[in-house]
Amino acid sequence: VEDRVTQEPEPEKTPEPDWDALRGEFPMMGDLMYFDNGATTWSPECVLAATDEFEREYRANVGRGVHRLTRIATQKYWHAHEKVAEFINGSAGTTVFVKNTTEAVNTIARGLSFKEVDVIVTTILEHHSNLLPWRALEAKGVTLRIIGLNDDLTLNMDEFEAAMDPSVRLVAVTHASNVTGTITPIAEISRLCKKYGSLLAVDAAQSVPRMPVDVEKLGVDFLSFSGHKMFGPMGTGVLWMREPILEPLLLGGGMVESVTEDGYVPAEGYHKYEAGTPNVSGGIGLGAAVEFLSGIVMDHIEAHERKLTDMLIDGLAAIPGVTLYCCRDKTQRIGVVSFTVEGFAPHEIAEWLDDEHGIEIRSGLHCAEPLMQYLSAEKGTARACISFYNTESEVNTFIAVIRELTGN
Ligand code: PLP
Repeated sequence: VEDRVTQEPEPEKTPEPDWDALRGEFPMMGDLMYFDNGATTWSPECVLAATDEFEREYRANVGRGVHRLTRIATQKYWHAHEKVAEFINGSAGTTVFVKNTTEAVNTIARGLSFKEVDVIVTTILEHHSNLLPWRALEAKGVTLRIIGLNDDLTLNMDEFEAAMDPSVRLVAVTHASNVTGTITPIAEISRLCKKYGSLLAVDAAQSVPRMPVDVEKLGVDFLSFSGHKMFGPMGTGVLWMREPILEPLLLGGGMVESVTEDGYVPAEGYHKYEAGTPNVSGGIGLGAAVEFLSGIVMDHIEAHERKLTDMLIDGLAAIPGVTLYCCRDKTQRIGVVSFTVEGFAPHEIAEWLDDEHGIEIRSGLHCAEPLMQYLSAEKGTARACISFYNTESEVNTFIAVIRELTGN
């Protein structure tokens, strides 16, 4: 019998970018090998040019007044929201500019008016920024259920499913861990949320810079991420929400339509959540960053980083004395490579790499102390985070110098 199921046409493949040429777009590229991309990434020329243009040519406040500079600034700032929304396929929702992921998560936690009967399901993978705002709600009587991992450091979905029931008001989960690199199955979690009528809030701080993230395909209600981790300016971040159901965290100028003696009518759209003068140049710079990433195409970035990540993990795994704390399922991880070296504290490794080899990594507890305890890595780890601007040659150097450190 003829199979009549019609398949979606394959999207047209774009040619692989010239990665070396892209490195040339980053003015900080020089002698240092930068592997601290999980903490903050560097910015390309187009982002610096966009913020610079604002400061030099049309600096003015937004949404206030009618003069030409305020009109240009307002239009460009609004357009940046549109670009960011498009980047995550979130044009149907509300895209709010905030300071960082931490502010986004706190805005959700404060804005949902939790009651003592509510349950929140979260995971052991969480960064403190996607844990403490929920922990604070325990004082109100809210219950937290924390899901663990399988032996290969993927999320334990049997445990997840068993934790779900109609009392779960919200699931708050990271899309990708900043310690193990684990990618969580958000679409599957979303189906569970729909089954039990729960909201889904995803911390996408580590995933948005590294892979295509589509809020419609994933089926999330809230998405939080940081502009400074995706080649945008410092002090920028995003809270995307499907429906504007949150009570705003901040009240004041810019977030109201009108104010009467006994109340106020909030403004529509993102304005309701951006009280006060925003980081206009940062927002415009973030718009330039997503345009830059869209030009490269996130599928290419994901594939390129996966290749470099596998090289780095396989290389380090072959060195006696190195212990890795990375997700072992190659298809379910991003380029966050945590490791320890026998006989050396994580900070010693990071200092030695910097002093002797000009290699910049992060060391310590990575703002994820419960996870470090779960992994029996209470003293922390060294962490190298790949970005698309890292090279095979840098990865090979990294492996060689760690081998040198161990004396093997
Ligand atoms: N969530 C994850 C997974 C992170 O890796 C980070 C930062 O490292 C955060 C949240 C917090 O991001 P920010 O410091 O930009 O608020």
